[in-house]
Amino acid sequence: MQKILDAILADELDDIGRIDVPTSYRGVTVHADEVDMFEGMATADKDPRKSLHLDEVPVPELGPGEALVAVMASSINYNTVWSSIFEPLPTFNFLRRYGRTSPLAARHDQPYHVLGSDLSGVVLRTGPGVNNWKPGDKVVAHCLDVALEHPDGHSDTMLDPAQRIWGFETNFGGLAELALVKTNQLMPKPAHLTWEEAAASGLVNSTAYRQLVSRNGAGMKQGDVVLIWGATGGLGSYATQLALNGGATPVCVVSSPAKAELCRRMGAELVIDRKAEGYRFWSDEHTQDPREWKRFGARIRELTGGDDPDIVFEHPGRETFGASVFVAKRGGSIVTCASTSGYQHTYDNRYLWMNLKNIIGTHFANYREAWEANRLITKGRIHPTLSTVYPLDQAGQATSDVHGNVHQGKVGVLCLAPGEGLGVSDPERRERFLPEINRFRVDPQ
Ligand code: NAP
Repeated sequence: MQKILDAILADELDDIGRIDVPTSYRGVTVHADEVDMFEGMATADKDPRKSLHLDEVPVPELGPGEALVAVMASSINYNTVWSSIFEPLPTFNFLRRYGRTSPLAARHDQPYHVLGSDLSGVVLRTGPGVNNWKPGDKVVAHCLDVALEHPDGHSDTMLDPAQRIWGFETNFGGLAELALVKTNQLMPKPAHLTWEEAAASGLVNSTAYRQLVSRNGAGMKQGDVVLIWGATGGLGSYATQLALNGGATPVCVVSSPAKAELCRRMGAELVIDRKAEGYRFWSDEHTQDPREWKRFGARIRELTGGDDPDIVFEHPGRETFGASVFVAKRGGSIVTCASTSGYQHTYDNRYLWMNLKNIIGTHFANYREAWEANRLITKGRIHPTLSTVYPLDQAGQATSDVHGNVHQGKVGVLCLAPGEGLGVSDPERRERFLPEINRFRVDPQ
């Protein structure tokens, strides 16, 4: 591995395909024989630091249409939280089901699961049938794993029934020194970013792009008012940028003065500190309080000068969904990709149908959408919102930060990269964007 790393650090990549790939590598895993370790505990008490391991695992065989990538950096996504606490179900169920589909897919069904759905790094090997990528290419990877053998995926790959999220529903993810990806996950690494900056955005930026901008999601247009829950979190910090970048007006919801300040630094003027304003949408475990929805809606109108949100960018789920449906504009959309606080949502349907609102379900992004989202980063229109960066052996702590909601923006992880600040291959371009990069870089709390 050292020879590979030396070549990358020296930026001598022409012959990297000739350097021997080791037979094993270090990756962040969960173990199949530990899926019951948190049984009976409340979600908040399940500790990723106990379930995540750094293991030496065998390098998988390379199949057609695949690439083996030397991973310089990765990032924590909420799916790593779900995998690490085995909720809503252990990810080994995905691996077993996938493994049954073909002899090649059987590689993924292991007693360990190497997690991680983001990477920046360098292609080491490509499998048969790969023409667009070669060893030495500097890349980032999006996390849609799809073979496109089914007709349903051919208008929108997210509609393919065999679509999977790499590093969550497949093995050999990005929180590791090496990763196995399909080459239709690869995209050029933005040359003005460091390894850890480049690895921060893939999953959340692509998801937010489809959810908010794409016609497959809310199809945001200039002038729209967009209510963004968790506006400094992974998804929200990119949704806020996409809204501002596309001529919309974000109304950012956050839970602390520091997060409110970050929204303002990103350029958003309308911010609600949900904690300071004390919204209690649920009066008890079973009952929502419409007076609180109304108080929240009135606050939004106060900030916007009377407008209701054309789009509500939803992901907290159970706790906020009733309020989200209530506050959306007549004819507006509630676009949801998640249910962090619980996936059984209840809302008052009278507000939906009488006011002709839409609920749109969305999930990750197709290659085209991920590519467009990455292009915005390459062009310096969207910037990584990276905060704390951890070494690979502290991925448990990194995941625990996200689980405990003590993070801001994205939490990065260095894999092969020996330190922060490496990997910029276009210093002039970086210089040009530096004020913006620094504006969006989040000070670790
Ligand atoms: P994140 O970095 O933790 O950010 C989420 C933010 O939401 C938090 O920082 C928090 O901000 C806010 N929040 C959390 N619980 C809340 C609640 N009960 N009420 C109001 N706000 C709440 O996570 P993320 O990366 O943005 O992901 C968010 C969710 O989306 C996760 O469930 C994840 O699995 C899912 N997701 C789905 C997809 C997909 O493709 N379907 C892709 C990415 C993520 P404040 O405390 O500041 O309000």
